[in-house]
Amino acid sequence: MSLAELSPADLSALAEELTTSYAELKDAGLKLDLTRGKPSAEQLDLSNELLSLPGADRTTDGSGTDIRNYGGLEGLPEIRQIFADLLGIPVAQLIAADNSSLSVMHDSLAFALLHGRAGGTPWATRPHKILCPTPGYDRHFQLAEDLGFELISVDLSADGPDLETIKRLVAEDEAIKAIWVVPTYANPNGAVYSEAVTRELVSMPTAADDFTVLWDNAYAVHHLTDDELAPVDVLGLAAEAGNPDRVFVYASTSKITFAGAGVSFFGGSPATVAWYLKHLSKRTIGPDKTNHLRHALYLKDADGVRALMRRHRAIIAPKFDAVERILGDRLGSYGVATWTQPHGGYFVTLDVVENTATEVVRLAKEAGIALTPAGSSHPYGKDPQDRTIRIAPTFPPLDQVTAAIDGVATCVLLAAVTKLLRG
Ligand code: PMP
Repeated sequence: MSLAELSPADLSALAEELTTSYAELKDAGLKLDLTRGKPSAEQLDLSNELLSLPGADRTTDGSGTDIRNYGGLEGLPEIRQIFADLLGIPVAQLIAADNSSLSVMHDSLAFALLHGRAGGTPWATRPHKILCPTPGYDRHFQLAEDLGFELISVDLSADGPDLETIKRLVAEDEAIKAIWVVPTYANPNGAVYSEAVTRELVSMPTAADDFTVLWDNAYAVHHLTDDELAPVDVLGLAAEAGNPDRVFVYASTSKITFAGAGVSFFGGSPATVAWYLKHLSKRTIGPDKTNHLRHALYLKDADGVRALMRRHRAIIAPKFDAVERILGDRLGSYGVATWTQPHGGYFVTLDVVENTATEVVRLAKEAGIALTPAGSSHPYGKDPQDRTIRIAPTFPPLDQVTAAIDGVATCVLLAAVTKLLRG
């Protein structure tokens, strides 16, 4: 029976029961962490072979270039080829960089702000705004805010973004220069951008002639089901729509091999890649090609990556299953929360009773369960409805995920009942 339907007496009895459960939870002295989307140690172990590659006798790439020396700004051809195949991008339009796609995002935006996009006005010289499908990735929002963008929230449901609002805003406001997109298994609600939605984003009329879709395909190959989605050919669609330069593509191996020591990628039209390399050449003489070679030797080809991702799935899918089962068992009948059931990626979004998310996070923290702060999936860290909580179940071992989610469910219920009793 939903909470709203309980009689006052039943509600008080439930409140008492939950207060006791919560006290027991606190007494259990838990120390659990569901905050960041990090791979677990078991997942990292899958790629330990990298630690002994490329080996002391391997100092050149396939074309004979010495990987130990300066140069090769666009990255090693072998690793670019593997990810060009996986992302469905011509290899000439994909470059390989160092260990963080977030820094590639930073660089590409900094270049646009300081130099303008290929002959255009530097973005920083005028007010600049960015569309933020929400809930979204907190570091995207913080990066854009740090670079001086005004953040504009647009709704993102598990089925995709609010296209009508996006189209209206970009058509009328020249200061809107970009939109964040995590097209596959979005952080944090698992949304997947269909080909039809993508077509709209790359073809819609925009007041800014240098409007840019920041296509962060961080979870392109991170499937949790047998339905291994093929990537949408975003660059092909943009070219077809007459806007070949509209898209910046990002990806990395952070959740494929080592989160802190992987390879990142930048893609775009031939003109965009040339523009990026021109500015990048002033920032660095070249990327870590030893790491590129190590990765190319270990991963071998696109199928090698797909096989590795199935091993990741075997480790993390049971954790996602546990989240879904426990939330269903504990909260399903009360009508106090909804949650996403992602088909891939690293997160579950839990929406609780309005104006209780902050309280749920506080209660959980006091019981030794760390959650990302309420609001972190929203621009400026402010969720106007104080409703959304991001759950990251990959890092802790399964028994800890189970204990933590069970504890979170108690906190969600306690906060909901308390709010109802207060009226
Ligand atoms: N993009 C998204 C959507 C992410 O969720 C993350 C990691 N949480 C990143 C980028 C970070 O990628 P990297 O490690 O390559 O900087």
